[in-house]
Amino acid sequence: MADLDVVVAGAGFAGIYAVHALRSAGLSVRAFEAGSGVGGTWFWNCYPGARCDVESKDYSYSFSPELEQEWSWSERYPAQPEVLRYLNHVADRFGLWPDIQLGTRVTAAVWDGERAEWLVQTDDGQQRTARFFVSAVGCLSAHQVPALPGLQTFAGPWYHTGQWPKEGADFAGRRVGLIGTGSTGIQVAPEIAAVAGHLYVFQRTANFAVPNRNKPVDPDWEHAFKAGYREYRQHARESFLGVPIAGTGRPALAEPPAQVQANLAQKWRDGGGMPFLGAYTDVLVDRAANDIVAEFMRDRIRETVADPDVAELLCPRAFPVGAKRLCQSDDYFAMFNRPNVTLVDIRSAPIDSVWPGGLRTRAGDYELDALVFATGFDAMSGALNRIDIRGVGGEPLTEKWAAGPRAYLGVAAAGFPNMFIVTGPGSPSVLSNMVVSIEQHVEWIRECIGYVLAGGYCAVEAKPSAEDAWMGHVTEVAYSTLFPLADSWYIGANIPGKPRVFTPYLGGVGPYRARCDAVASADYEGFVLSS
Ligand code: NAP
Repeated sequence: MADLDVVVAGAGFAGIYAVHALRSAGLSVRAFEAGSGVGGTWFWNCYPGARCDVESKDYSYSFSPELEQEWSWSERYPAQPEVLRYLNHVADRFGLWPDIQLGTRVTAAVWDGERAEWLVQTDDGQQRTARFFVSAVGCLSAHQVPALPGLQTFAGPWYHTGQWPKEGADFAGRRVGLIGTGSTGIQVAPEIAAVAGHLYVFQRTANFAVPNRNKPVDPDWEHAFKAGYREYRQHARESFLGVPIAGTGRPALAEPPAQVQANLAQKWRDGGGMPFLGAYTDVLVDRAANDIVAEFMRDRIRETVADPDVAELLCPRAFPVGAKRLCQSDDYFAMFNRPNVTLVDIRSAPIDSVWPGGLRTRAGDYELDALVFATGFDAMSGALNRIDIRGVGGEPLTEKWAAGPRAYLGVAAAGFPNMFIVTGPGSPSVLSNMVVSIEQHVEWIRECIGYVLAGGYCAVEAKPSAEDAWMGHVTEVAYSTLFPLADSWYIGANIPGKPRVFTPYLGGVGPYRARCDAVASADYEGFVLSS
């Protein structure tokens, strides 16, 4: 008999809720978390300026009406320390600590077909058996540092934003080089510029960013909003993105150009990426509509950045707006008006190497005291691939995913019985409000495990044919949009040698939920249940 019903890998938003939900269903559960605290991505990404780009009223658990009434967010968009406080509060409030082991990384999980259980190993030498293995390792947790020649010779400190030191980093008066201008780079840059002697932003690809218009939460607004929280949450669950947004519901190309401009200007004044991109129905599927929005955004850069050459270099042109994650910032572009900030184009003159005193590009040397990498993650599959996971017949997950990550409904991989992946490849995950998608997956997994146990089955496993059909559908939906036109981490393009497979599901949170529910109602259609 296995030691546990379920081992959960990770204790971020997903792992925390998995422990609570599975334990509440009467299962014995243990979560192993590599960090010395809970929070996952919100634990590790404690760089200055880290802030969620989904509003706090949305980016929070909905499973407990009491929790959502008791907790008050201080800002429209929560900063990283507040998200971390919230997650610690949830662990306290629901008494989750006894079932979470911190500072412990899952290193291997091996399926034992004879015993129908997983043997899970951790880096403290433990071996635990469990009937089910739930991955809650996150989509953006395997950070990646580019292999720059000479990095180890650099005389100063260097950091990756996804592994930021808890004690912070001192940039006061220093010459700092920042590599990476995605959501993270755009957030951290103004914070560094405010204290550094000089900040050099090494830009390979210019990026789009909309304003946050962040503000404190007004207590009267909060009181009124919370009165309808349950209904609002239901709308979120049924919505496309996991956030109810008020778009026009019309294509931009069908509206008079002046009205489109006025509408975009209003969304710009309101702030927020999802409402801006969701203003019109055709922005992410029709290049002509997308170009209108992209040009509107380039105009905002031109009117913000004083030096026209710098402004042009900051104007994104390499991909349709929204096809890479739309960044949000109130101060990134204006930062380039500071005398202590220089934008360096490493598209035309790429980085050559690092030398002890700084960074060498093909155009010249930059003397630096510190380096910051905001260079992203081996997304969606990287964290799982770093665990030695072996399924039926000892097949490594890395081998199964050699041509790209795949899973039936994005939650279960054929050949890996009794294993579930919260927000796995082929689910809406990163193209939705993660918390809504996490809750949906955890609840579906809980029901599935309950069905297996109640039916006296020993294993549930996705059929290869169901997985193939699902991933085919994921690809088909993705290629009906503009998303694949970008070299994004959604498609694995940011990792040298990674197969190009569009991984998140773009069919929408509400329809996806309906599909998962239909599979469950049809006695887990597409799965094999074995006794
Ligand atoms: P990212 O979007 O992958 O951006 C990485 C940046 O590093 C890009 O500008 C990339 O340039 C650059 N880069 C990577 N390798 C490089 C190399 N070898 N040389 C030069 N430049 C290199 O990573 P991220 O900014 O950490 O964001 C990842 C995701 O995390 C986001 O898309 C978002 O979903 C999430 N996130 C959310 C928030 C939020 O809620 N506000 C904040 C941060 C992150 P190229 O574009 O040319 O590849």
